[in-house]
Amino acid sequence: MIEMEDVYKKYPNGVVAVSGLSVRINQGEFVYIVGPSGAGKSTFIKMMYREEKPSKGTIMINGVNLGKLKESKIPHFRRQLGVVFQDFKLLPKLTVYENVAFALEVIEEQPKYIKKRVMETLELVNLKHKARMLPTELSGGEQQRVSIARSIVNSPKVVIADEPTGNLDPETSWEIMKIFEEINTRGTTILMATHNKEIVNTIRHRVIAIENGQIIRDEQRGDYGYES
Ligand code: ADP
Ligand code: ADP
Repeated sequence: MIEMEDVYKKYPNGVVAVSGLSVRINQGEFVYIVGPSGAGKSTFIKMMYREEKPSKGTIMINGVNLGKLKESKIPHFRRQLGVVFQDFKLLPKLTVYENVAFALEVIEEQPKYIKKRVMETLELVNLKHKARMLPTELSGGEQQRVSIARSIVNSPKVVIADEPTGNLDPETSWEIMKIFEEINTRGTTILMATHNKEIVNTIRHRVIAIENGQIIRDEQRGDYGYES
């Protein structure tokens, strides 16, 4: 379902961030992407949601060849994915409800369906009671839960998360992980770049380690493998 073959990414300034990367990820897998800063993790992830284009090689997601995807087709493609960021990226002037509803409004779902779906998604992340609040009125962990709700509201097959617990304290990070586990249990593929050694070593999943733009390790139920 996700297939990368011999992917290279060279940025306009000449930096080669990813070089000769091949990987296959099946539907329903939970994959941690680990490695030191500057290793190419974010670039790897950005290419998956077509924020960056590979300079060479093929990326196929659910049958779509991302290298050949027309600019005009990107928004449609992205609707098949959920993306979660370290810094949440919520719309500050919209309420919790509206932040989550947004993705369904742009595809012009029925208002009745939107309301039902948004509320059940907020229930999943345990934030139904804060639907009327603004992001600034919430804790970091709550904001991340809103952003997870937003990422899954249109039932994507894949959720991609770039350091989703990077700005959160340990206890909150575990709560966030519980939600990702629940989403994965329901069949969604999860791809998560993380520096959280404790989490990776405790909630075991496939670990792909990247260094210098290359995969140096790929293990089922692997460990974090770095000191910090
Ligand atoms: P990681 O997420 O593992 O920290 P990145 O993918 O962010 O790694 O970065 C990999 C390399 O690519 C680094 O050397 C970084 O400086 C470089 N890089 C990342 N983004 C850009 C960019 N937009 N332009 C130029 N170089 C970049
Ligand atoms: P319940 O029926 O479970 O009590 P409600 O329908 O009362 O849920 O909605 C809970 C919260 O969700 C409300 O307080 C409201 O802020 C928000 N909400 C519901 N529908 C909308 C909407 N269409 N636009 C904006 N916010 C909404």
